Amino acid sequence: MSEPLLIELEEGRSGTLPASCLLPECDVPQAELPWEMVRQELPLPEVSEVDLVRHYVRLSQLNYAVDKGLYPLGSCTMKYNPKVNEETARLQGFVQTHPYQDELTVQGNLQLLWELQEFLREIGGFAGVSLQPAAGAQGELAGVLMIRAYHRERGDAKRQVMLIPDSAHGTNPASTSMSGYTTVEIKSDSRGNVDLEDLRAHCDDRVAGMMLTNPNTLGLFDEHVLQVAELVHSCGGLLYGDGANMNALLGIVKPGALGIDVLHYNLHKTFSTPHGGGGPGAGPVAVAERLVRYLPGPIVARYSLEDLPEIETEDGEEEPQYVYHLVMPEASIGRLKSFYGNFGVLVRAYTYICMLGAQGLREVSENAVLNANYLLAKLRGVYPLPYDRRCMHEFVFSGKRPETPEIHTLDIAKRLMDYGYHPPTIYFPLIVPEALMIEPTETESKRTLDAFIEAMRRIAEEAVAEPQLLHDAPHDTPVRRLDEVRAARQPKLRW
Ligand SMILES: *Cc1c(COP(=O)(O)O)cnc(C)c1O
Repeated sequence: MSEPLLIELEEGRSGTLPASCLLPECDVPQAELPWEMVRQELPLPEVSEVDLVRHYVRLSQLNYAVDKGLYPLGSCTMKYNPKVNEETARLQGFVQTHPYQDELTVQGNLQLLWELQEFLREIGGFAGVSLQPAAGAQGELAGVLMIRAYHRERGDAKRQVMLIPDSAHGTNPASTSMSGYTTVEIKSDSRGNVDLEDLRAHCDDRVAGMMLTNPNTLGLFDEHVLQVAELVHSCGGLLYGDGANMNALLGIVKPGALGIDVLHYNLHKTFSTPHGGGGPGAGPVAVAERLVRYLPGPIVARYSLEDLPEIETEDGEEEPQYVYHLVMPEASIGRLKSFYGNFGVLVRAYTYICMLGAQGLREVSENAVLNANYLLAKLRGVYPLPYDRRCMHEFVFSGKRPETPEIHTLDIAKRLMDYGYHPPTIYFPLIVPEALMIEPTETESKRTLDAFIEAMRRIAEEAVAEPQLLHDAPHDTPVRRLDEVRAARQPKLRW
């Protein structure tokens, strides 16, 4: 390992700019700094540009990133983020606008939001979209609150139960509880589908709805999805679709056509926004006709200028065809997020969709499914596969092989780090003991997949020949195996 970083600290503050910092030209009136508010004893570092650059580059090299290699994180989808998305999100015309600006001065921003609403509406086969929610979990909350508003407005207050399969993501029951509903778990059958018998037994007039993830977290498309929708609807409930991961469906299946009434997207999983570092995300919600009036707002509406009084334009300026306007849906569940949602994330998703087009989006899903099935086929028989079916964009092995009972999934995941890979998702979904959940994503080449397959095979061999190697892994990372509980409770934030 390299030497610990040396940052020279100077006592006190000199009041001059450090050499590593060049501020852009000032575009507001200059004012004195309120020095009395700055702690005199604060040892502000003053370093040269090269020291600053090295500090951050070294830090970045301690981290694994999707720009460095395969990141096969099942369910949480770490696909490559094309850099053009970053360029558009940084365009001055977007960056320099302020959310308090008058609508007429930000028509371009509103047009982008409106078009993104339309893209997502079309992709999912829905009647309306709100871009407000800031994350998948917040989209779920919005969806369940809309379902609740729907039943309430019909005077159907005794519906208090949300049905959730045992393979669901933990945010599903959490969103349900936050909405004041009770969760009832529905079993999966031996093929990994919703167990129809169990579902039928729970469908009654207390059911507000069901939250379904399809393909589910086993990476399997539910073979009875139409019957599931019919059962839930026939007892008066609505069907929620957890669309966090749409990577197997784009351009192939519209969830709206399967009978789903409300679905959230994770723009930071399917539509390429970088995530995983705790940065902003977006979880837009899309709804069928009967829920449009409850959408969280504001949403962007578009009016043709023919329907409106004439607008004055500056000399020589092209007359716009449409006017975009923020509106609150009629019986909206309200605001979930300040202003327009996470605008930068929305610009990235818009760029991603425009760059790919309809055909490109379909290819994303085709390749995501192909890559996952390729890995699955090459590793089948090396690791146990509790639900052995053709998978969608991901699949779930068990890390518990009969020949190496003392090796755990955690050991395999840690050993993968020595081979230069980010580990897959582990110990989720809960219905697979010692789960190893792999999602290669569509952006990986056959060469990368083959190298990963080779690493997984070698680790299986090592587990037999040299198990201690796995128990002690990782060996080659900046830090070794951490006490994860203590690391979370007493984080060391300085290095
Ligand atoms: C990631 C994920 C969520 C939650 O999304 P966040 O943006 O992390 O809140 C919900 N459901 C599934 C299936 C997911 O993979």
